[in-house]
Amino acid sequence: MLEVHTVLCRAGKMDNYSYLLRDSKSNAVIVIDPSESAPIEAKLAELNWRPNYIFNTHHHFDHTDGNLPLKQKFDAKVVGNINDSERLPAFDIGLKPDETYTLPDIAPATAQNQAATTFTALDVSAHTQGHLAYYFPSAKALFTGDTLFNLCIGGLFEGTPEQMFAALQKIRTLPDDTKFYPGHEYTAGGAAEAWAYFGGNRDIAAYLEQAKQKLGQGLPAGPITLGQEKKCNPYLAAATLHEFKSLF
Ligand code: ZN
Ligand code: FE
Repeated sequence: MLEVHTVLCRAGKMDNYSYLLRDSKSNAVIVIDPSESAPIEAKLAELNWRPNYIFNTHHHFDHTDGNLPLKQKFDAKVVGNINDSERLPAFDIGLKPDETYTLPDIAPATAQNQAATTFTALDVSAHTQGHLAYYFPSAKALFTGDTLFNLCIGGLFEGTPEQMFAALQKIRTLPDDTKFYPGHEYTAGGAAEAWAYFGGNRDIAAYLEQAKQKLGQGLPAGPITLGQEKKCNPYLAAATLHEFKSLF
């Protein structure tokens, strides 16, 4: 089982989400995208967890500023795309894009170690080159960084619409009951566009009602299932490159 806690960072400014994970099988504790260290350290103290690893989805400061302080405090290893090692602060362990690894050791998955918890470092380059999404199949959980948000997607800082379309197709092939955890709380921003695009149908109405209730209680809008997201996020719903490009 994968226990997931969401930590809101840069609240009211960039509204980043960092995630604290504990895999009950391996006892590995992972921080995904430490945006800033203080709120993460506070949550770790509350949980009485010590992180073994810090995973980065991409190099932007609002996903990596906590790397060094958390590494120093907990002796955690920084993990990310091997092709982006120069841009990820305090980098330790390189992952090959689209490869599958085991916990707690982060060794390549093989026929011999199939009983271990695995995760795949999906290459979803487009927001940045080398952007990874972390997929934990046994937990049906996907951490999408700045690739997929609730009802919208990340900006194309280093990639093309073609690359983003390919990245989203990769995400679309995952099971519909996969829950996704985005790198920011941007639901409100995507809502108006999605509502207009789908003409305010029942799926999108239900999505927005659920998001409104959770945000109203100070909770993240997500996690939402990919099945629900495919019906409501115009960018993820687009079935052809032509359709996708018409959204820009
Ligand atoms: Zn970013
Ligand atoms: Fe970001």
